Amino acid sequence: MADHKKVVRIIEKIAEKIHENRQFLTDLDAAIGDGDHGINLDRGFQAVIEKLPGIQEKDIGFILKTVGMTLVSTVGGASGPLYGTAFMKAGAVVNGKVELEVSDLLTIIDEAVKGIKMRGKAKRGEKTMLDAIEPAYEALCKALEKGSTLKDALIQAENAAKEGVEYTKTIIATKGRASYLGERSIGHQDPGATSSMMIFTVLKESCED
Ligand code: ADP
Ligand code: MG
Repeated sequence: MADHKKVVRIIEKIAEKIHENRQFLTDLDAAIGDGDHGINLDRGFQAVIEKLPGIQEKDIGFILKTVGMTLVSTVGGASGPLYGTAFMKAGAVVNGKVELEVSDLLTIIDEAVKGIKMRGKAKRGEKTMLDAIEPAYEALCKALEKGSTLKDALIQAENAAKEGVEYTKTIIATKGRASYLGERSIGHQDPGATSSMMIFTVLKESCED
């Protein structure tokens, strides 16, 4: 499905997507947080971009762990450790691999979700990135079980992530900075759910099926 070079290209595309949307993500965070989500994530992924030339010949586990460690040390805020943990946990389950199968992709995302939950102690419905990632993962699994192609399954996953982002507009934040706003957080979409949705958009766009 994807060799280590393809994984590096996908990471570059994620960095581009975050860079293009840094102002949008920051504006979303300004409404219910402290207005740094896009700027922070962009700083982290630009640092990742600088590391990639030196690691692109390594195995996929090493590449993903390096992405995670770089995000932890450069992003800051809540999302740095959360995304960082997600990539580090994802890397740990594909240690030594230079080629990923579809089943590896599922394991990677499952581990990432578990890492975010372990680190942030949040669950779905608290207006966080989990409201996009978890439904996207479930939609991906369900579509593949039904025999969809990977491309179709990733389209379903992206749609579920988009619905998750829409859902965050309707609920009160109970984790992270946005929780300080209480009911005033209703009506705003969660910045972290939005950046997570963008990662699924890149996965969909990168799949050539
Ligand atoms: P900070 O809130 O520290 O400024 P960011 O602005 O970079 O960090 O990221 C905010 C995003 O982090 C939120 O929109 C939300 O999706 C996510 N987030 C915050 N706390 C948690 C948590 N405990 N679990 C999962 N995601 C969280
Ligand atoms: Mg913030």
